[in-house]
Amino acid sequence: MTPSPSLYRPAAAFDALRLPLIGRVLRHRYGRLALQIPFLALAALLVYDGFTGDPLAGRNLATVIPWVHYRGFAVLALLLAGNLFCMGCPFTVPRTLAKRLSGRGPRFPRALRSKWLAVAALILLFFAYEWLDFWSSPALTAWLIVAYLAASFILEALFSESPFCKYVCPLGTFNFVYSTLSPVQIAVRDREICRSCVGRECLTGSYSPQPVILIDQVGVNGAPDRTHAHSPQGTLGCGTLLFAPQIKSNIDCVMCLDCARACPHDNVGLMARRPGTALTRADAFPPRYDLAFLIIILAAFGLINAFGMVPPVYALMQSLADGLGLTAAGLSDAAIEAVVLIAIFLIGGVLLPVALSLLTAAAARRLTRTVQRDSLRAALCAFAPAFVPIGFGLWAAHYAFHFLVGFLTIIPVTQYFLQDHHLGWLGAPNWSLGGIDSLEVVGLIQMIALLAGFVGSLLAAQRIAARLYRRQAMAGLLPWALLLLLMMMAGGWLFSLPMEMRGTITFS
Ligand code: SF4
Ligand code: SF4
Repeated sequence: MTPSPSLYRPAAAFDALRLPLIGRVLRHRYGRLALQIPFLALAALLVYDGFTGDPLAGRNLATVIPWVHYRGFAVLALLLAGNLFCMGCPFTVPRTLAKRLSGRGPRFPRALRSKWLAVAALILLFFAYEWLDFWSSPALTAWLIVAYLAASFILEALFSESPFCKYVCPLGTFNFVYSTLSPVQIAVRDREICRSCVGRECLTGSYSPQPVILIDQVGVNGAPDRTHAHSPQGTLGCGTLLFAPQIKSNIDCVMCLDCARACPHDNVGLMARRPGTALTRADAFPPRYDLAFLIIILAAFGLINAFGMVPPVYALMQSLADGLGLTAAGLSDAAIEAVVLIAIFLIGGVLLPVALSLLTAAAARRLTRTVQRDSLRAALCAFAPAFVPIGFGLWAAHYAFHFLVGFLTIIPVTQYFLQDHHLGWLGAPNWSLGGIDSLEVVGLIQMIALLAGFVGSLLAAQRIAARLYRRQAMAGLLPWALLLLLMMMAGGWLFSLPMEMRGTITFS
């Protein structure tokens, strides 16, 4: 990435890195590691229980924690505090080790430096989750964790940037997209300091064996008042190659805070901003099809993923199997399920949203008479960020269901694990513990999440339309508003149906 002098900073009164104790801990050299170590220990525990514990999903930490608790906490953290999961991500601990071991390798191949790989990885994970029933298999979930650790280690050892986080990791991709709604973002405190910064260590890292003389700290006598010394091991710059003064959204930011540690001018902050401001800024999202379709496809999978857990999916799968002649061909059940799932995922999760969004963009161009002025890509990419709130609402409604009906299951499963290892000081497991019993209450919370997402999307689309089409804004908004309404109604229908209580003892 070539830094340019164009600098950006969100207006912010709050900087988390300036908080008395929290700021120091976050900026500390081992601040992130202190968060990662407990998560790495937890990942090791899940792998251990997944391979050696009870194969029943509802009795095993490997299935209950990732599929019931992690996803619920992740969406809550994204909404309230930002990309906390990536900040504490255990998969990047071996990755950092690989980086130290391997030195500086080449960059990730240019042809793969886009979000298409991430889109493919996401779809593959959604497909594998449904086809192999990860949620019901502790051993498969443990293998998934091992695969994550291995992939991040190998990719980091081979390449100089952080390709696993930036181009591959499905969890990171999900977090990148929905942390654009978060109330905090990396930004610089004083853009003038960046203009005269020579080292740009926030991007490149600090490895100089000599202390850096800060040009803004040279006294009247020409001697430096203050210098910045690097630690003997050096400080990493931004692994995903973001340049702090140019950051306009949370896309690609794993909140590692390496930029804040590396900046010798102490000029990087974790600033508050109005949630969702990045969605309507003209320059916050590059006008690229890969990024636009990632956002739209991820929102569509919020529907498709939920559809995989309600009764009509079985009827559809049966009719597809019959209609495509798979049953008559004598294929195994697993092969039939794979083909049918691929068809549902590709049509419902990819082809339909891609076609509908292209048609909507074309309709908006015609209605606003901007066919000559705006390319189809420009019209589509401008409105793609408006799908972030509704996508988040759909995923939050889905994950909230599993979390709310099962959050207390962590207690008996932990009791069971300890009892199994002759450490039963928490007593015998009480398997009656689940979560909120009233499905009406859970359904109400789901509908609130869905409606909030829809309203957020509508507001974002309205602002984008006003910026793009000015007096023609209503005409430009109409097709997008209809598409968003369609998604909201589909979500409302899905969440009104009985959903499988995966991960709980009654559904193992
Ligand atoms: S190292 Fe600090 S001062 Fe230099 S460009 Fe980066 S944020 Fe700005
Ligand atoms: S170093 Fe890069 S990824 Fe890490 S917090 Fe700073 S901008 Fe985000």
